Amino acid sequence: MTELYDLHCHSTASDGALSPAELVQRAHQQGVTSLALTDHDTTAGLPEAQLRAAATGIKLIAGIELSTNWQDKCFHIVGLGIDPAYAPLAEATLMLQGIRLERAQKIALKLEKKRISGAFEAVKKAAGEGMITRTHFADFLISQNHVSTQQEAFDRYLAKGKSAYVPTSWAELELAISWITGSGGVAVLAHPLRYKLTANWMKRLLAVFKDAGGQGIEVITSRMNADEIQVVSNYATQFKLAGSMGSDFHNAVNQWVELGRLSPLPKNIKPVWELLG
Ligand code: AMP
Ligand code: MN
Ligand code: MN
Ligand code: MN
Repeated sequence: MTELYDLHCHSTASDGALSPAELVQRAHQQGVTSLALTDHDTTAGLPEAQLRAAATGIKLIAGIELSTNWQDKCFHIVGLGIDPAYAPLAEATLMLQGIRLERAQKIALKLEKKRISGAFEAVKKAAGEGMITRTHFADFLISQNHVSTQQEAFDRYLAKGKSAYVPTSWAELELAISWITGSGGVAVLAHPLRYKLTANWMKRLLAVFKDAGGQGIEVITSRMNADEIQVVSNYATQFKLAGSMGSDFHNAVNQWVELGRLSPLPKNIKPVWELLG
């Protein structure tokens, strides 16, 4: 059987549309043989995903995508092969849940000022026991006919600098990496080109990331062209980082981002799964 790795995706435990079980089932149908569930700031979906993984024969890697700050910017760090029971990590997810709840109240207040009411109750209900994310606000704005797509919701209200944007203090980058590595996991910089950093800033970030114990970088994410893959491969080589690959799948609406639909990792890049126990 050909191995197919997808090491980044989301379930209803954060802002994905599928339950953990449905997500694992879909990955299996798409030919994925190893899947990491990496919900935003939570590991709550892992037990359900693990049950379905055992039933289908797919290998589930315990993961998380932590929201972090460095130099006043937000970076996402994926943890792979983590131990959800590791106390500092478990406590961190509770803290981040609190931060997300508080932020949601502030976003809702900003929307009220735009005469859009009821947002907090709606996103809280939609998220259920899962993490409240801006994606929930985007879906609420669509449901109330304020926008027609998630992209439009971000462009008009939710993105940095827009009317309902709330600057948020997440976890400090180095600390977040220590929660991952302390739990036995591998820390991976998620979607490195999405931060729109200059080459100089990217190198400063990677130096700090590596110093703090980071070991991997997402060389392959969905919708990357050959040039972009080359750019990230060069960073991986320069900073001696292993390469990861993940779709960042959230829902089936986006036809271009499907579980397992990924270019192969370039041959000269060390695969991050070789670091996983
Ligand atoms: P949060 O972590 O709550 O700030 O939400 C961030 C999430 O919003 C990301 O993980 C994406 O899933 C989603 N997101 C960010 N920007 C956009 C965008 N322009 N269009 C659609 N979804 C977005
Ligand atoms: Mn997301
Ligand atoms: Mn992300
Ligand atoms: Mn993600």
